[in-house]
Amino acid sequence: MLYDMHLHSNLSHDAESTPEKMCETAIKNGLSGIAFSDHCDPHITPLNKMLEDAKRNHRVYDDMKKEYGDSLYIMSSIEIGDAHDFFEGTQQVAAALPYDSVIGSVHVMKDAFGKHTPHTQIDFSGFSQDAIDEYLNAYFNALEFIAKKADFDILAHLTLPIRYISGKYNRAISFEKYMPQIKRILSVIIDRKIALEINTSEIGKTLNDTLPSMDIAALYKSMGGSLITLGSDAHVADTLGNGLKEARDMLLQNGITQACYFKDRNPIFYAL
Ligand SMILES: [Zn+2]
Ligand SMILES: [Zn+2]
Repeated sequence: MLYDMHLHSNLSHDAESTPEKMCETAIKNGLSGIAFSDHCDPHITPLNKMLEDAKRNHRVYDDMKKEYGDSLYIMSSIEIGDAHDFFEGTQQVAAALPYDSVIGSVHVMKDAFGKHTPHTQIDFSGFSQDAIDEYLNAYFNALEFIAKKADFDILAHLTLPIRYISGKYNRAISFEKYMPQIKRILSVIIDRKIALEINTSEIGKTLNDTLPSMDIAALYKSMGGSLITLGSDAHVADTLGNGLKEARDMLLQNGITQACYFKDRNPIFYAL
């Protein structure tokens, strides 16, 4: 039994496969359920378009539930980016529809000129160590803000910048100095009953690890956290469910024996 709680269909600007193809692949791969979580990206989308897209996506997910619901538990979710800099609009989108779950993410931050640039578009190869530190510090500040203030159910890819800084640009980083801040974020999401996502997109790739890694998952558990979701963050059907089994084994090795999926924004536990 495994649920992929984070994936993108071609309703997202950066993803390729149709929702039908995602459902058919999930069934073929033996997944128990999937949560469609197409992007809501306020740095490139005006509010009325975000609301329009969210409504359209929700209708498509309902159609998928009708078409594939007998073989697959399908959830209507949304990945809402960057509430730290786009608070009002993102909160309106979060409240607009009866989602099964809402994912909160930090994908973009303001650069020195006040321009919002996604982590994906930054060339970290020329960054000094201090500049990388400054970047990570700003990232965790933004994440702490959304953890405290924004309306969402699942905190996505807590250590996301490592996907680019180390995974793409091969720059070594350690989260050691951010552990006090990471602990504060974990403490807030535990209090607010927000789930910690174990993002499996990098399993089998350069990093070959989960985001966040198991030391942070174990810390979350030791602090009393029990809401864990697994998400492949697939942007194409071929990677749907990528790394879920490996992550399950890693969680079990760390004494984490259950994860959850969502219905009507409430977690439902299942045994790993
Ligand atoms: Zn994301
Ligand atoms: Zn995503």
